[in-house]
Amino acid sequence: MNELELLQDADQRAQAYVAGIEDRRVFPADTERAALDGFHEELTEGGRPASETISMMDTLGSPATVASNGPNYFGFVIGASLPSASAAERLALAWDQCASTEDGSPVADVLEKQAGRWLLDILDLPRESAVAFGTSATACGLSCLAAARAALLDRLGWDVVNDGLMGAPEIKVVVPASTHVTVRKALQILGFGWARVQKAPVDGQGRILPDQLPEMDAQTILILQAGEVNTGEFDHFDEIIPRAKAAGAWVHVDGAFGLWARAAPNIRSLTNGIDGADSWTTDGHKWLNTPYDGAMAICRDPQALARVMNSDAAYSSASADAQKNLTLEFSRRARGIPIWAALRTLGRNGVAQMVETHHLQAQRIASALSEAGFEVLNRVVLNQVLVRGKDDAATRSILQQVQDSGTSWFGGSVWQDRPAFRISLSSFRTKDEHVDRLIALMQRIGPSG
Ligand SMILES: *Cc1c(COP(=O)(O)O)cnc(C)c1O
Repeated sequence: MNELELLQDADQRAQAYVAGIEDRRVFPADTERAALDGFHEELTEGGRPASETISMMDTLGSPATVASNGPNYFGFVIGASLPSASAAERLALAWDQCASTEDGSPVADVLEKQAGRWLLDILDLPRESAVAFGTSATACGLSCLAAARAALLDRLGWDVVNDGLMGAPEIKVVVPASTHVTVRKALQILGFGWARVQKAPVDGQGRILPDQLPEMDAQTILILQAGEVNTGEFDHFDEIIPRAKAAGAWVHVDGAFGLWARAAPNIRSLTNGIDGADSWTTDGHKWLNTPYDGAMAICRDPQALARVMNSDAAYSSASADAQKNLTLEFSRRARGIPIWAALRTLGRNGVAQMVETHHLQAQRIASALSEAGFEVLNRVVLNQVLVRGKDDAATRSILQQVQDSGTSWFGGSVWQDRPAFRISLSSFRTKDEHVDRLIALMQRIGPSG
């Protein structure tokens, strides 16, 4: 096969995969996973044909995928891939641009800047903010927290970029006790020390209790949540952010999926006051239904982010808003392109409709499960339904039966020290019929498992 035939073959296989996504087992069966042993080969001296490599990948690999790009996957908040975003990703692969700077790719530079402007518009965040397209909310959160620390230290007269952390004034970090594990990861990489981070007490839905917030000052980074990972809840931004800002603190919001509520008029009020923060992170690859890896670091003060992330060299200098000077990457793919394509295709109403549909579907599942005798643990303000069976053993058994069913899939969690399971709505492919199928399965299994 020549290059074009090979690409055509891969494209045909990709098309067949997507066309059959709905009929696929949601999680591969044991036999399909066992067949993966076929990949355990010795590396050859002379290489193998490319066409055979792609056909092997498809034949052995496709059956062992998790059908998270399909309509029956309710695990985590993973989202599928919108046709516009996947197609844009395919074309961008052919371009193979090194989207570090405008010199590396004029078109990537323009499209990512356009995507950045649209994001600030649709999320209604300060229009002067920098938008960095990184690999994940983890990486983007890390960038924002590095910027936060440098900016606070700068105000205290300490130049951390040049002088480092040894001997620097201490920066205190406050997080919700329910904060996401990747916030902990970012903080531990940055050297904050997880044990030293102050965990603010939260209510039964995982929201910080404002009257129990630790004291904040100009040496404090406060991290809030838009979309708690189990309940989908939001911190009380309206009340907390003005207090933190008055004390001189930096406020960062982890909105990996929940920030998209801001684009949906019916639930937008959950985010009231969020625009008062200093930095925000959100994913494209979760609720916006763009492919991996695509996420955004948004920083009100562009210089604060550009200063810590700068990677200019004699042979590669660029403006402060070049993506290589805002993200962790140097050589990088233009992660903003599928996001640009998704936003351009959906428009404001399309995004709102996707988010609102998932919210309504989550509410419908919650009331059907309550009626069937399951215990719904959260208020279902967003797209998450947190559920238990009659007791812990039943909860585990229900989870196992759903995961083994092959027709629907969701994941387990632990809520207030007891097992629970979490049903997340985030795929544009999930229609009412798929929700009905899940409800019917749960009714059949029942709360006693
Ligand atoms: C998924 C998630 C993250 C991490 O996002 P990645 O893109 O997977 O790195 C952070 N916070 C919350 C609330 C999340 O749900």
